[in-house]
Amino acid sequence: MFPIAQRNSVTFLQAENFLDFNFLTHAFCSRRGGVSQGAFSSLNMTTAQGDEEQRVEENWKILSRSFDIPGESFLVLDQVHKDEVLVVREDPDPVSDRPVPVCDACVTQLPEVALCIRTADCVPIFLLDPSRRVVGAIHAGWGGTALQIAARVIDVMTREFQCRPAEILAAIGPSIGPCCYEVDRRVYLAMRHHAGSEKFFRTASRSEKWNLDLPLANLHQLLEKGLRRKNIASSGQCTFCNPDLFFSHRRDLGVTGRHVNFIMLKKS
Ligand SMILES: [Zn+2]
Repeated sequence: MFPIAQRNSVTFLQAENFLDFNFLTHAFCSRRGGVSQGAFSSLNMTTAQGDEEQRVEENWKILSRSFDIPGESFLVLDQVHKDEVLVVREDPDPVSDRPVPVCDACVTQLPEVALCIRTADCVPIFLLDPSRRVVGAIHAGWGGTALQIAARVIDVMTREFQCRPAEILAAIGPSIGPCCYEVDRRVYLAMRHHAGSEKFFRTASRSEKWNLDLPLANLHQLLEKGLRRKNIASSGQCTFCNPDLFFSHRRDLGVTGRHVNFIMLKKS
């Protein structure tokens, strides 16, 4: 379990293995502390699901004030359940004129760029190479996990920034847990050849259904790439099981908001 913290109205979780670094800020935000109503209550960070634009804008302002990070520093992605990885090398343009990158992961060495992943059941994953000061953020639903997006991000960090996998730390945030995530044959076939699949799939009570442990599937990808088990922390909190804290696409039958998870290097 990741410990829960609070800044102003915002309730969020943090990975303990990421707290030792004074050059780093990160948060897996919960749904608490915003102004959205109804199914989007309350810290919903996207208009894509039908929430009012003004409320979502206010939620971003609340986040910005609470963490003392300027609004333009938050880099959001248009997440499409694929495995494209963006390397952010220059300060992004101001929010108003920059196109939203279509991809599901990003990596940077730049300070003051808060890499954002929005979720409601999918797995948010943060990576950190403390010696080279490189951070990464990943959105891994079953589609991205099947495409091994977490493994791809490790490849990008190794190739572009000379990171060593044995030194990379990982934090796997709250997502739908194996308790609540039943999948069909299509998902099973897409991942059964992955290392560790005998551990992250369990036969469900209904025939032709499997329970998938999506965080564990991603943990196995990171181990396969050479990360050390002791450097990977997993939240273990299930979004479906905790309606008070989390949005859940599956529990709320698609009518729900998105939390934001962000990681940022500070200026030294
Ligand atoms: Zn659950």
